[in-house]
Formats: sequence, C-alpha cells, structure tokens
Amino acid sequence: MFVPFSPIPRTLMGPGPSDVHPRILTAMARPTIGHLDPEFIRLMDEIKVLLQSLFQTKNELTIPLSAPGSAGMEASFANLVEPGDKVIILQNGVFGGRMAENVTRFGGELVLLQTDWGRAIDPEQLRLALQEHPDAKIVGFVHAETSTGVRSDAAALCKLAQGAGCLTIVDCVTSLLGCEVNVDGWGADVVYSGTQKCLSCAPGLSPFTMSERAVEVTQNRASAVKSWFLDMNLVMGYWGKGTTRAYHHTAPVNALYGLHEALLIAMDEGLPAAWARHARNHDALKAGLEAMGLKFFVPESERLPQLNLVEVPEGVDEALVRARLLKEYNLEIGAGLGVLAGKVWRIGLMGYASRPENVLLCVSALEAVLSSSNAPINRGVALDAVQAAV
Ligand SMILES: *Cc1c(COP(=O)(O)O)cnc(C)c1O
Repeated sequence: MFVPFSPIPRTLMGPGPSDVHPRILTAMARPTIGHLDPEFIRLMDEIKVLLQSLFQTKNELTIPLSAPGSAGMEASFANLVEPGDKVIILQNGVFGGRMAENVTRFGGELVLLQTDWGRAIDPEQLRLALQEHPDAKIVGFVHAETSTGVRSDAAALCKLAQGAGCLTIVDCVTSLLGCEVNVDGWGADVVYSGTQKCLSCAPGLSPFTMSERAVEVTQNRASAVKSWFLDMNLVMGYWGKGTTRAYHHTAPVNALYGLHEALLIAMDEGLPAAWARHARNHDALKAGLEAMGLKFFVPESERLPQLNLVEVPEGVDEALVRARLLKEYNLEIGAGLGVLAGKVWRIGLMGYASRPENVLLCVSALEAVLSSSNAPINRGVALDAVQAAV
C-alpha cells in the first residue's frame, strides 16, 4: 500500500539543497497556469529583470534554465565550445573536474590546470597558461568550489582571461547571494547558478546569464550546438523579448513561482545585507567549533562563509556522526567529496538556513554527539563562544 509521501522536516545545513524559505513553498503551491498565458509571460519578464539585479548584470540573455545547476554548466560549454577549440580549465575541486569533462565531451581541446584542493586558484597560474596558450578561446573555473569550501578571485581571473581575448565561464552555483557575484564588474561572459543553494529555493532551476560577446559567438557557430534542449539560439525564442514567444519546452511553472518569490526575498533584504548575514553566521559557527577544538580546512582568507569545511577529529567515525545528527536532531550536514571523503564535514549556512538559531543547533548537536562518542573535544565552552560572536 502506497500512501502520500510526507517527509519529516529537517534542518538542511549541507552543501545543498538548503532549507527552503516558507514563503517560497507557499508560492510554489499556487495554481498552475499555462506557460504561454500572458500572465505567466509577465512573470517570466519580471524574473529576468530580478535575475539581472541578482547577477549584477545588464546582459539581456539572463534567464533561469529549466534544469538544475549542472544544466547551467553543460549549457555554458555546449554553446561556446566548438570542436577543436582550446579551453583552459582551472580546477581546485570536484566541480572544476566536471567542467573539464564537459570540454572534452563537446570536442574541445582541454588545458587542465590543477590547484591543491582546499586552496584558491592562483591568478599567476592563469597568467602563465595564457602566455603558453595564446590560441586559447575560453577560460572556465568555479568561483565557489562546493567540494572544498573555497572562494577564488573571480574578478582577477576574468580580467586576465579577457585581457588575453578569451571568453570566461564562471560557476557561481554556491556563491550567488552567499557572497558577491558581480558579472558585469568582473567582465564574465557566461555565469550560471542553482536555486537550491543560497537562494533557498527548491532544487531544479539554473539561473544563467550570457554576455553580448558570448551570444554572438553562439549565434555565429560553424556547427550547430550539440544539445537541442540547451541551445540558447532556440531557448531565447521562448524566453526572449516581446510577447510572441515560440514554444520550446514547457517551463516548470510552479518552480518559477518559487524562484520569483526567492528573488523578491533577496531584493527585500538587499544583496550587501545578505552577504553580510552569511559572513556573520559563518563567524559565529567558527567561534563555536574552534572553541570546541575543531579545525577549519581552508585558510581563513579563502573560505566561503556559506560552506564550511571542518576536519573530522582523529578516531571519529564521520558517517556515524552525520547519521546521528540526522536521526536525533533532524539536522543534515554534508560529507566530504572526492579526495576529501571521510576527512571533513561540509557545513552549509546557505540562504534561509544562514540564521543564528541554526548555528546554535549545529554547534550544540555536534557537541552532544561528539561528547557521547568520547571524541577529543573541549566541552561546555562552544555555546558561550557562539553567543559572544552573534
Ligand atoms: C551544486 C553544484 C553544482 C551542480 O548543481 P546541481 O543543481 O546539483 O546540478 C555545480 N557546481 C557547483 C559549484 C555546485 O555547488
């Protein structure tokens, strides 16, 4: 016998999805209307304008793709890369590796530059690579590497790439709204994100923006874009200007109600206020965990406030700790990914989840679970440290 699925509410403090704001869940439950209904087209137009503000761009091609962040990544490479194009990928974690995979799948010639996991990409490395490969067409990198909790200097990297005549593809899935993303200020060409990280929306959409330069490249390709669904030349017939929209695919109507609500919430708070809130709650979490004796994995100046990598103490079964947090406290934190599996926890303070009560819950629940498993931590001091920091 099947019954309606009714999940236990959790507090989501992993690498995404993050807690969805209740206003967004309410918005998503509103009546579905036709995806070519004039009212719906009005909503699409508002979403485009709000997304431009969020990305800090005037790019006309600024839309949500009807698929998760990975589709944003794939669309970027599918549209820009033609067979034989040389593409430099700067990798410092799992998601940069996926960018590299996209380059080769779309027939590009990959130049892969590696950085130690847990460290930001060094612009000097890019400068040298651009000298060595003057024929490179595209540079791609991840602004906020979710697998390592590291932020790289997107402004510096984009500037170098642009100076060498390259187009840039920047993954801002985890950074958007958690820390500054300034598409036009950076001079980035293609930037994509996801709805389930700092936007606190349900998973399944990918905010996406493309500069005029990149649009021209896409329009003047020698070969057709290899993906029909993600071909921006076709997608823009649906999302483009004016009231005559050509059917391409059926937009996920209710998911877009959710995104619209998320964008209103973001604009009400204001971008600098949202970045400052993420930084504040990161500081409070850090105060508590460090008082307990836990260590952060990433050098302080390269850390993401919205995603915290914490080293698992010696002798502790990290999977058991996560399982107990979920079972006993309804609290989800993330495991290490790739080479960091088993070595770190990833604690997200993203969007609506970035609140002082969540910091207190996480620090106290972690202290309780670690204490009862006799882990070598300082007891009874973490909550005072959090309170002093909030
Ligand atoms: C989560 C994430 C993605 C993939 O997004 P999905 O919505 O899971 O497809 C891509 N890049 C980064 C940096 C991410 O954190």
